[in-house]
Amino acid sequence: MINRRTFIKSMGTAGGAMLFAACSDAEVHRPAGWVPAYAQLEEKGELAARADTAYAKLEQCDLCPHRCKVNRIKGEQGFCNAPARAVVYSHSPHFGEELPLVGERGSGTIFFSNCNLRCVFCQNWPIAHLGRGLEVDDELLAEMMLDLQRRGCHNINLVTPTHVMPNIVSAARIALKKGLHLPLCYNTGGYETVENIRLLDGIVDIYLPDLKFMDGSQSARYAIEGQDNYPEMSMQSILEMNSQVGVLETDQRGIAMRGVILRHLVMPNRVAGTREFVSWVAENLPRDTYLNIMSQYRVEHMAFEYEEISRAITSSEFTEAIEWAKEAGLTNLDQRSMSQYRIHRRFSS
Ligand code: SF4
Repeated sequence: MINRRTFIKSMGTAGGAMLFAACSDAEVHRPAGWVPAYAQLEEKGELAARADTAYAKLEQCDLCPHRCKVNRIKGEQGFCNAPARAVVYSHSPHFGEELPLVGERGSGTIFFSNCNLRCVFCQNWPIAHLGRGLEVDDELLAEMMLDLQRRGCHNINLVTPTHVMPNIVSAARIALKKGLHLPLCYNTGGYETVENIRLLDGIVDIYLPDLKFMDGSQSARYAIEGQDNYPEMSMQSILEMNSQVGVLETDQRGIAMRGVILRHLVMPNRVAGTREFVSWVAENLPRDTYLNIMSQYRVEHMAFEYEEISRAITSSEFTEAIEWAKEAGLTNLDQRSMSQYRIHRRFSS
């Protein structure tokens, strides 16, 4: 396990000491009067109890729909293989996320190791499936959040957070007491339970879920072998997220402060069910929900063994996806996706 002292030492050798000193001006970018959700919950005296409730779940882990019921505090491991402490692969500003998250100075990503999915096309499988990374305690996780804030990031982007939700809540409270004021962005693959998302009500400002598949037989084949409840679990959770934070709100510079950003990756041979996805969004969420329909599917990990998904998507597969979204009346499509659409349309016509 890495501890606070070795972390700070490593930051120093990486130039972190300079960054610690230089980036306190992140403060000036905060919109006047805006406070993150978790700070408001702390003000009401409820954040500590929420962290305790979340931590108690580790004794019979039901943090996700697998409901393994293992005692992670005693070292037992469930489907995700995660220990009780968070395992972190990296923390750094990231410029490849949606523009409202990236802003001018990047989204402050913390990549957690392990995952409750086993997507055969996973791009991060050494981290997500093999669990590569360093085990950290909540104090150190809080330091990472504060470091990202000092480096000028606009949010704390918690990548693959489901199995470490208690650690995140606890660390956010520690960091809050030391001055954290950025929105927390919960960047999930979507395999969530509504109960756990309810526990995050008043803690998370920005939800960034995937809705990867609309057909349980496809998710059982490509995301969680033999389990077909991914679409149901993901859709229920997204409805709960939307009821908590609603349509994306940004500050004057267009930087995300609160709301839902929904992602969907277009896959070859329509296996992701993109037409059904846009219909579901149109019928169940506000038409101006921020939607990122993504074109960057690549044949990664085991995908080459599955004929249907062993190629990139075609231009016409991407353009039809965007056109379905427009026909469904969805009005808030990601700018980068729309740029991609205009490029692909030239090749598909
Ligand atoms: S978080 Fe991990 S251990 Fe807990 S229920 Fe999900 S897969 Fe099982």
